Amino acid sequence: MNTAYIALGSNLDHPLRQLRQARSAISDLRLTELLRCSSVYQTDPLGYADQPDFYNAVCAVATDLSPQALLSALQGIEHAQGRERLHGKNEPRTLDLDILLYADQVVKQPDLVIPHAHMLERAFVIIPLLEIAPDLIVPGAGPLQGYLKSVKNQGIRKLQKSWRG
Ligand code: ADP
Ligand code: MG
Repeated sequence: MNTAYIALGSNLDHPLRQLRQARSAISDLRLTELLRCSSVYQTDPLGYADQPDFYNAVCAVATDLSPQALLSALQGIEHAQGRERLHGKNEPRTLDLDILLYADQVVKQPDLVIPHAHMLERAFVIIPLLEIAPDLIVPGAGPLQGYLKSVKNQGIRKLQKSWRG
């Protein structure tokens, strides 16, 4: 099986509930086992500032789904949880599920780029990912730890209650 890391994000319609539901849906995916999840973090919105804070977390899975099949499965979960695309990038959303890493693979397809194109610019990815994988090496970029400094000015707070109310 391949270890993949998935970023979860929500800022609408009870975000914490959305993340909990998504985590449970990920754990139910075929050919896939949920390994562990980070704490949930609350972050200031990027892009449109005039929208609610985001809740973000990262989960690790072991999977026999291909990267493309995993992407489709995650899009199915987004869809099931009522995501609508209105404005484009960085818009408010009930649920965003992105593949950050898939084993040590590099994928460059029109609809799928792995490692995720923006993961090394985002505190809400780097900090939760380091929580569950402190020694992670990002293909083509090196140790994840080295990118922490560059995002230290981004507003992010660890929630005390994450996956259990
Ligand atoms: P974003 O996550 O950038 O805010 P979307 O969730 O709307 O925006 O994703 C837009 C497109 O990004 C998706 O249709 C998907 O095909 C593409 N995409 C490219 N690489 C990835 C990835 N690693 N994980 C998830 N989606 C990806
Ligand atoms: Mg996305």
